[in-house]
Amino acid sequence: MSSYKIHVIGLAPISPTEDRLYYAMSRVEMVQAMAKAAHAGKTITRWYSQTGVGDRILGSSETVTTEEITDLLPKLSTCPVCDGYGCICCNYAGIAPRNYHHRWQDWQLANIRAAALASAEVIP
Ligand SMILES: [Zn+2]
Repeated sequence: MSSYKIHVIGLAPISPTEDRLYYAMSRVEMVQAMAKAAHAGKTITRWYSQTGVGDRILGSSETVTTEEITDLLPKLSTCPVCDGYGCICCNYAGIAPRNYHHRWQDWQLANIRAAALASAEVIP
């Protein structure tokens, strides 16, 4: 049996009683989650830790507002693989750490880029 624990959950209010949840395993993924929420017209306002690792990601806290954590978050660049359209290298956020894509091989990057650009063309 495998166990897969989400370290951090971000909440974006969509109504007075309902939140859209965004999952993150690192501060990079938090920034990417915020970009994805923004694309969907939503704003992640609060983050909750689910694990000990999550506590460290949130700066030794179990919960923080986005405003409180902003200074600890990395600055990300437009993903060079998909030019910001979204691909697996940038968690479909269009932004990633510089050189992050070097963990993939060139032939994989070529396929990922082709797929990202092809799907971008059908977005109105
Ligand atoms: Zn990308």
